[in-house]
Amino acid sequence: MTVPTLPVLTTETVHDVVIATLDGPGSVNTLGPAAIAALVALLDDVERDDAVRAVVLQSAKPDSWIAGFDIEELARFESAADGERTSREAHALLDRVERCRVPWVAAIQGACLGGGLELALACAWRIAADHPSTALALPEVQLGLVPGGGGTQRLPRCVGLGAALDLMLTGRRVRARQALGMGLVDDVVHPAALAEAALRRARELADGRAPTRRTPRRAAAARLLDGNALGRALVLRQARERVLRRTHGHYPAPLAVLDAVREGYARGVDAGLRAEARHFGELAVSAVSRELVYLFFATTALKKDPGSAAAPRAVAKLGVVGAGFMGAGIAAAAAAVGTPVRLRDTDAGRVGKGLAAARADLVTGTTDYTGFRRADLVIEAVFEDLDVKRRVIDEIERAAPDAIVASNTSTIPIARLAERAARPERVIGMHFFSPVAKMPLLEVIEADGTAPETTATAVAFGKRLGKTVIVVRDGPGFYVNRILNPYVGGAGRLLDEGVAIDAIDRALVDFGFPVGPITLLDEVGLDIAGKSGRIMHDAFGARMAPAQSLLRVLDAGRLGRKGRLGFYRYDAAGKKRGVDESVYALLPTGERRTRMAPEEIVRRTVGPLLEEAERCLAEGIIRSARDGDVGAVFGIGFPAWRGGPFRYLAATGTALAPRHL
Ligand code: NAD
Repeated sequence: MTVPTLPVLTTETVHDVVIATLDGPGSVNTLGPAAIAALVALLDDVERDDAVRAVVLQSAKPDSWIAGFDIEELARFESAADGERTSREAHALLDRVERCRVPWVAAIQGACLGGGLELALACAWRIAADHPSTALALPEVQLGLVPGGGGTQRLPRCVGLGAALDLMLTGRRVRARQALGMGLVDDVVHPAALAEAALRRARELADGRAPTRRTPRRAAAARLLDGNALGRALVLRQARERVLRRTHGHYPAPLAVLDAVREGYARGVDAGLRAEARHFGELAVSAVSRELVYLFFATTALKKDPGSAAAPRAVAKLGVVGAGFMGAGIAAAAAAVGTPVRLRDTDAGRVGKGLAAARADLVTGTTDYTGFRRADLVIEAVFEDLDVKRRVIDEIERAAPDAIVASNTSTIPIARLAERAARPERVIGMHFFSPVAKMPLLEVIEADGTAPETTATAVAFGKRLGKTVIVVRDGPGFYVNRILNPYVGGAGRLLDEGVAIDAIDRALVDFGFPVGPITLLDEVGLDIAGKSGRIMHDAFGARMAPAQSLLRVLDAGRLGRKGRLGFYRYDAAGKKRGVDESVYALLPTGERRTRMAPEEIVRRTVGPLLEEAERCLAEGIIRSARDGDVGAVFGIGFPAWRGGPFRYLAATGTALAPRHL
């Protein structure tokens, strides 16, 4: 063998099997130009050298097999033709792997994503290590793309149409054992046995002794519809309906996946591959994909951002005070990543409920402060009341003298909580969003006196919980609630003028928010919204004045979804049952309705949000436009495909010009 030893790929020959080991620069392997060139050189050599009878492809990095096509390369495409050509080159390369004179075995441990999984799919056999880092996915739709390396054709033919669509339309990750169950990999072995098992399988394949691949029973049943055109048409149509329901047509990539898959079944794999490449090229230079890639880079950069120059403290033990909705959620999230938690509430019943909600052996409960002394970090999530919180912080400082103390307050400035503290430099805000398990964002709030170590610890612990963390400066509403308030307030003022509830919500869902602002008010709870609205009004004056409509509906005793009545009606299961028409009698204009164009509704709600975001940047509440974009997208559901408020402003012009909205 004379495979040149390229930096990203080294080879070793064991008898007649080439073991090719990928080890690119950086923490993950990607398919960039160097890795692709190395694979081409390997193929050339293997094709030439008759002594070689099989290839095993593995990674030197325990957590990363191949994380996918190098996303940096995407940014270099100047036209759709560039992307299409790149995809066609990938097809040619993987076609060579698939048709190679000798079998290729993918020995997978770690992230096997996108182009990585597509390469694995072109191999004759796939073995996955049963390791926590092993994850297989085609996450291209999350970047506004379709798989560009044959995934739309090989995946359905490997795991069946239904399962393939599920994977490609959601981008979700599957673990080794799940992958085995669906037929995505052929074997699962202990990590320590991976190399040996792959070598053995490679030899068997070379000798024609490998077991025939069996479709797992469950996967076989799910494939019943795949065999005939009518069944496939049905599956594809249903998938399309689901996509449109979920995306309101804002995301073209999932529809392009469906088109490429359909084309492949209708006209054959080559036609399917051509459709895939065409879609890949067009999407790669589309505005939606550019914004999603921007957010991907922004969140990746935040993962590496320590938030402060100091070293973080290790949090070996967490204390949580307040076992309500948020406290229990935080305790559960910490236990899920292996951190022992001591959970305190004054109410024994709440402790019990909190423990049940956390459902983890690592969480223990108490009604006093026993077990807090050695906590490194204590997060309080008690009632949103300045005096209660100050008292609790004082108690925490006594019970856990070395701990950093974080407050999950959503509205109270951290400086006010810290001003009576014995060690104010160790007090910080950690604003989680509800529900904690699901919401990806954490706002860490620094007050003027906060020590760098305190910030670093809060940021590091937030990341450990899997959150995307932005560090913001102290101030009423911090960042996320501060921009949310004028948006919802704008919607309230439209109600005051007689614009219909569903017209407002529809205009903003059409703009791209997951739910409209009036539905959001009902979800958050009108009492909570009213309370935070008052705080914001006190702090900022007229521009944050609460709408009459909200005050009146709240005065009438409506709480929103939790009380099954707000602006909408809800059934016993909490499901929304349409606008409650009787609510109009409570509003300033009564039954009289004003018609308003959707663009105007957007201008009057999103406009104030954009202005407030700009103020936050100018005042240094957020550190960068990037943080402001990430906070708005992951904190309040600002449409991701618009990149966030600052990207949206940059793309459309100033906040105030109506033509831009
Ligand atoms: P909750 O009412 O569900 O829970 C509060 C808990 O604190 C209760 O179990 C109560 O018994 C307990 N408590 C009160 N005083 C205490 C004391 N002195 N010592 C120990 N426990 C005490 O409220 P929640 O929704 O979980 O909110 C908690 C905090 O999180 C608030 O500051 C709130 O603003 C903030 N927050 C809430 C949300 C949300 O959506 N619910 C989102 C972000 C932040």
